[in-house]
Amino acid sequence: MVNYKDLGLVNTREMFKNAMAGKYAIAAFNFNNMEQMQAIIQAAVECKSPVILQVSSGARKYANQTLLRYMAQGAVEYAKELGLNIPITLHLDHGDSFELCKSCIDMGFSSVMIDGSHLPYDENVALTKKVVEYAHQFDVTVEGELGVLAGVEDEVSAEHHTYTRPEEVEDFVKKTGVDSLAISIGTSHGANKFKPEQCTRNADGVLVPPPLRFDILKEIEKRIPGFPIVLHGSSSVPQDKVAIINKYGGALKDAIGIPEDQLREAAKSAVCKINIDSDGRLAMTAAVREIFATKPAEFDPRKYLGPARDSLRELYKHKLTDVLGSANTVK
Ligand SMILES: [Zn+2]
Repeated sequence: MVNYKDLGLVNTREMFKNAMAGKYAIAAFNFNNMEQMQAIIQAAVECKSPVILQVSSGARKYANQTLLRYMAQGAVEYAKELGLNIPITLHLDHGDSFELCKSCIDMGFSSVMIDGSHLPYDENVALTKKVVEYAHQFDVTVEGELGVLAGVEDEVSAEHHTYTRPEEVEDFVKKTGVDSLAISIGTSHGANKFKPEQCTRNADGVLVPPPLRFDILKEIEKRIPGFPIVLHGSSSVPQDKVAIINKYGGALKDAIGIPEDQLREAAKSAVCKINIDSDGRLAMTAAVREIFATKPAEFDPRKYLGPARDSLRELYKHKLTDVLGSANTVK
């Protein structure tokens, strides 16, 4: 049994409390390799921001969970070496079973998500409660989910949104004891969040997706005031990155994300955690593709992974500063 506190990690309780009071949100950035981890920590330290290192079950399979945990432990030391002891959470994204959540808690994660959103309501309650009871013994925080996001991400996929039903949230939070709740209000997983026919075009001809359902968010806030809300699938799919990818041989079609101004607005509400993964994938892929195309003789991985990491860091700095609003909150 490894306790996250011995690794210098923190759970999300204090983070979310501060985020709620300060009207900002904490970024949860996924990582599964060293360059991503470096970019996240460099950006968070430079921006003086707390950050959540997020590990999906796909990442655990890809990189090995022990290695990821040691990397997170290393990240804490790395941040200090860069000059600032920022709060860092190691969080399991979309845990799909009690056993998986337990295994992560037992090996040093400070926060886990149990996603029972695809289950009938009562089963979701029972599963989430079971994870909460185990996690809280070790002061590990738990994120639950009500409602289902459309889209595909690692092993999570659904064809259509099932918006969160506000009338369920109070009962769910009370019965399960969860620390935060992921909701479905129109964000979705992956880089193809909307079909062009769902969008309108603005004066510049740019596709504008349907707005997030802030009405549902407001109704939820009314029923569980001050309770931390989480938004998954909140990449904005920067069109300049998509253009670079496609210019240099990529074939991303109709990639559309959530406009950043809507996420900025959400961050000012009870939304305390915003998950961003696809944007990072796009930034890294654009950088690598450009180098492969413009410097075809290059074969040192540091010469393409390094610029990919730098591009990712700049993207994350922008997110922390201009979208989440969590920059300069660590003294
Ligand atoms: Zn998700």
